[in-house]
Amino acid sequence: MISEPLRNTNHHRSRPAFLALAALLAIFIAAPQLPADEPYARSRDYDLQHSKIALRFDLDQKKVIGEVTHSLSILRDGTAKIVFDSTGLTIQKVTVNKAAAKFETAAEKLIIPLAAGAKAGEKFEITIRYEGKPTKGMYFILPDKDYPDRPSQIWTQGESEDTHYYLPTYDYPNDRLTTETILTVPASWITVSNGKLIGVSDAGKGLKTWYWKESVPSSTYLITVVAGEFEEVKDTWRGIPVTYYAPKGRADRLAINFGRTPAMIELFSKKFGVDYAWEKYAQVMVDDFVAGGMENSSATTNTSNSLVHPKLAPEYLTGEDDLISHELGHQWFGDLVTCKDWGDVWLNEGFATFLEVVWSEAHFGKDQADYERWNGAREWFESSSLWNKPIVRHDFDDSSEFDGNAYGKGGWVLYMLRHQIGEDAFYRGIKQYLEVNRGKNVVTADLAKAIEEATHANVDQFFSQWVYGAGAPKFDLSYTYDAEKRQVMLAVKQAQKVEGRVGLFRVPVEVEITTASGPKLYNVAVSKDSQTFPLPAESAPLMVLFDKGGHVLKSAEFHKEKKEWLYQLKNAADLADRADAVVALGKMKTDEEVVAALGETLRNDKAWGVRANAADTLGKLGGASCSKLLLAALDSNDKPWVRSRVATALGNFKDDAAVAAKLNSVAKQDDSYRARAGALQALGRLKGPNTFATLDAAVSADSPDGFLRNAALRSFGPLGDDKAVPLLLQWSAAGKPIDSRTAAINSLARLQKDNKDITKQIAAYLTEPHFRVRMAAIYALGGRGDATAIPALEALLKSDDLSIEMSPMIKGQIARLKKPADGKPGANAGSGDAGEEFAEDGGEKLSTEQRLEKLEHLLQEMSERLKSMEKRLPPPKP
Ligand SMILES: [Zn+2]
Repeated sequence: MISEPLRNTNHHRSRPAFLALAALLAIFIAAPQLPADEPYARSRDYDLQHSKIALRFDLDQKKVIGEVTHSLSILRDGTAKIVFDSTGLTIQKVTVNKAAAKFETAAEKLIIPLAAGAKAGEKFEITIRYEGKPTKGMYFILPDKDYPDRPSQIWTQGESEDTHYYLPTYDYPNDRLTTETILTVPASWITVSNGKLIGVSDAGKGLKTWYWKESVPSSTYLITVVAGEFEEVKDTWRGIPVTYYAPKGRADRLAINFGRTPAMIELFSKKFGVDYAWEKYAQVMVDDFVAGGMENSSATTNTSNSLVHPKLAPEYLTGEDDLISHELGHQWFGDLVTCKDWGDVWLNEGFATFLEVVWSEAHFGKDQADYERWNGAREWFESSSLWNKPIVRHDFDDSSEFDGNAYGKGGWVLYMLRHQIGEDAFYRGIKQYLEVNRGKNVVTADLAKAIEEATHANVDQFFSQWVYGAGAPKFDLSYTYDAEKRQVMLAVKQAQKVEGRVGLFRVPVEVEITTASGPKLYNVAVSKDSQTFPLPAESAPLMVLFDKGGHVLKSAEFHKEKKEWLYQLKNAADLADRADAVVALGKMKTDEEVVAALGETLRNDKAWGVRANAADTLGKLGGASCSKLLLAALDSNDKPWVRSRVATALGNFKDDAAVAAKLNSVAKQDDSYRARAGALQALGRLKGPNTFATLDAAVSADSPDGFLRNAALRSFGPLGDDKAVPLLLQWSAAGKPIDSRTAAINSLARLQKDNKDITKQIAAYLTEPHFRVRMAAIYALGGRGDATAIPALEALLKSDDLSIEMSPMIKGQIARLKKPADGKPGANAGSGDAGEEFAEDGGEKLSTEQRLEKLEHLLQEMSERLKSMEKRLPPPKP
């Protein structure tokens, strides 16, 4: 699975979804403990082997009507009852081997006593007739009075333990079964489920029955049911059907966003030496999805946000490939081989994250892969809550197992392993792991064992520090040159605090020393808290690179002089080393030499990631020479993903008439929508004289998916001009596109702060059926600081369609209103919308891009908790 914010981490997208998600951010600061998943695998009484699942739907009541027949085999002698997971479902009838049977329901369980204690190996066929209105697991997205044209959709989300909210079953990963899914739906609908489509037959009364059969066993959290008004595009890979589905009316967006899927299946099949194992590969894009993507066996579900408008799609270098490669990678790691318990979920998520970079490397080249990895490391280090937790852990009651260690660090660890044992050995180990464990559930030891068996490389110490241990090395580095001995004396200290699960690291590191006669590479083995390595050097070095290319998950403080960083910025061969130089120079005292060098990088570095980072840094440094360089870069022909960062960086230069004029002109007219959106948002922060008119015009004009309108609506908040109130009221109203509404609500809350009518209007959105509008309203009210909103928030607390987890978010905002914030970002528990949280507060000047980055770091850290909370939120009301 991947969550929406995680998916966009490397893109710096100013997509509308960002705001709503940002608004969710602060939930976690105030949230009390969440109901946790079970950390250890259950003991089993039976082996569920096959389920035949027949479902019908009552759309008016959002009800599922089901009959499921489970075929199971007893595992333990004397088993006196069969227990299924079942929550909120009305069980109507149970038969055991076709005879009516007694049953009882207890909290979250359906219990079926067996007449006599059953013996191991004894087989049972249990049929359950039931119905229910699922509060999670299955979601009904239907047209309503405000959105009468919305295509109807029903979809499910099983991970982690939500399948039993719509299907009584065994709901933990450590069992595997085959399925038949029989779905009776309106005749004009399409359905998608696991496995092969056997047939579609007429069911009378304007209905059709779709019959799907999955013959490769997988766990129940990977069962999927999608039905609704969809359109389909067909493709193939080696004769296997590869299909893409979009909600009706958006089929033209499928090929441009998803067309690289067969190439990915081919790449992964070749790399792993194990071909794609399922009978087909479907990707269904659904509206209001509660995650970014979910890797259901042979049939992934993705958010319809991934259906980027064909005119915008070319403005994103890697498009949706991170999402596509992640969920596809899970078809091997997660679906074919499945973690036995949630404590080992990195065996699913770490691999899927690693494979995003493997695809980037193969398709977009080394620089792109390096940049993703370099960013990933920075993000992980900034997520302080991950630091003292190992990747494999079973103590996640107060947090979530789906955290930045399972994803980001897990992916990094696999990358390091590949680098240390070599590409060939690594994939030999992976092949062994997949072949030996195919169709089974695994723990981390199974991976270590397979690698050792295939390569004879002992990886115990590697796993011990990186997977079972916590933290990562934080190096403090310096060197001197001994001209007499012709030696560089490289002093390496491990500065991380050794405590708890964080120890000293033993890592092989590549050191490159460049002198006038060229570069030389040396391998050193770091293992102690403080070591000095003497390394030969013909003359005083021009550049010393510790961990050349950035192959170790680490942070490093390398004490170098300015001239060394300048040399490194210009001459280092690998992206990571040049990007490190940009960061280091940005922290030095600004002078014209540094600015000129960063300008040169912004113009000429071959890697876009380094150019974009140079833009961020110049924006941060400020001053006339920096703005001149950025203005020139905006005029250059660079890619939209760089120019949007340049436009954003220019938002820092207040009272610079040339900057305001240029941003105004780009906002109105440019080849790149992303550059225009960046300019619109920068203008709000500059608060220049013509900004209102520019933003107003952008709201009136059309652009693909309202991309520019939403950027302008978002910019009215920071601009702070009360004239925008009527416009924002108009665009926040029901019936307008959800992305525009959340942008408008967010900005509206920041204007006319003593106007009670605005508060009232925003409070009215609290009862909206649309999850994102409701969330935007909750956080907008908290940030607005008008205590008259408290009764509306309190009333919402009593509403019967809230999950218990939503309460703490609302309570956090009420607390915020009762005790106004002290102005420090993040100081106030429960504070939260993006605009408020990181707004200019008189202290640090943060650019939108930096705010975005900071927010994304926090989101990265919390996104999986977010995901698990989102999943538990109620579906929209009609
Ligand atoms: Zn995933």
